[in-house]
Amino acid sequence: MSLIIGNPSKYVQGAGAIKEIGKYVSAMGGTKALLMGGPTALSVSQEAIKESLKQHNIDCIVEKFTGESTRSEVNRLVDIGKKNKVNFLIGAGGGKAVDAAKVVSYYLEVPLALVPTIAATDAACSAQAPIYTDEHVFEELVIRPKNPDLVLASTDIIAKAPIRFFVAGMGDAISTKFEAEACWKASVINFHGGSVGESALCLARWCTDAVIEYGEEAKKFLQKRVVNEVVEKVVEACVYASSVSFENCGLSIAHGYQVGFTGLKETQQYLHGEIVGFSTLAHIVLENQPEEVKDKVFRFCYSVGLPVTLAQIGLKDAPRELLMKAINESFERIGWFNNEPFPVTADMLYEALIKTDKRGKELLKR
Ligand SMILES: [Zn+2]
Repeated sequence: MSLIIGNPSKYVQGAGAIKEIGKYVSAMGGTKALLMGGPTALSVSQEAIKESLKQHNIDCIVEKFTGESTRSEVNRLVDIGKKNKVNFLIGAGGGKAVDAAKVVSYYLEVPLALVPTIAATDAACSAQAPIYTDEHVFEELVIRPKNPDLVLASTDIIAKAPIRFFVAGMGDAISTKFEAEACWKASVINFHGGSVGESALCLARWCTDAVIEYGEEAKKFLQKRVVNEVVEKVVEACVYASSVSFENCGLSIAHGYQVGFTGLKETQQYLHGEIVGFSTLAHIVLENQPEEVKDKVFRFCYSVGLPVTLAQIGLKDAPRELLMKAINESFERIGWFNNEPFPVTADMLYEALIKTDKRGKELLKR
């Protein structure tokens, strides 16, 4: 089995980076671009993007994304791209918009630039994207043959987004090391179809460690709208390292729980990263990680306002049947719970949730 590592062709991050997008699109051969994104994402980014493209003689048409990566929405955007004969796609926004842009560019067969306007998920740098039916039921995971050509994270824009998104991004990122280490030990085949490389594992470890070390401080700076080295470091961990690491190493228990929880109506108002943050706690409880590791991660979540109890993800007093339903749903839909070096059962997963919730409640009482 060959070792395989995938990455975006170019990752650019910094305050004001958005002003440079034209230079990169031009170097990649773009002369006519379709810019798609949700209304908020477009309102904070389209002026700067259009201005920069204009400076490099790149035509641009703008189309609003309706908010869900469904088959019909993707087809609509592909048709617009074809009619206008675009040769480049730019997707701006959070998780759903960048995921949809990946699928649209795949069908248009044009290069792709992604501009994450929030740092809430690990979606921006990966090759894959989920697609849903019009009834919002998961349909398939579209695995593009390559990662995005350009990911441009303009930290001045990310800093203006509500802080909840940044905190959620940290929740998603802290799972990275634990899931990567589990997959490594279990010799899991990664999302690129290869074995996990040691350098990929190093990046995954750095991702979680950097977020835990600097996350609380970064949040304080961002609350004052200050972008500095600390903020840049955590954005790099959440937007870049978390994203490429999960693809290069694999996912296991934390995202396994997330898949099951997402199907419950009780958790609908919580963000992907908030649910993954809590699920990471259950992941390390199930693995029985050393006490100091558990203590550090629980304290981190508490300090930045990530959920530490089931109630904080909408599952207060949730009956056993409901939690088991989520666990079994994940087992059926996706095999990530099995990406551990030991057999994992539904009962073990349930017990870990209860223990985590108990420990979280004790932490809140202090
Ligand atoms: Zn995630």
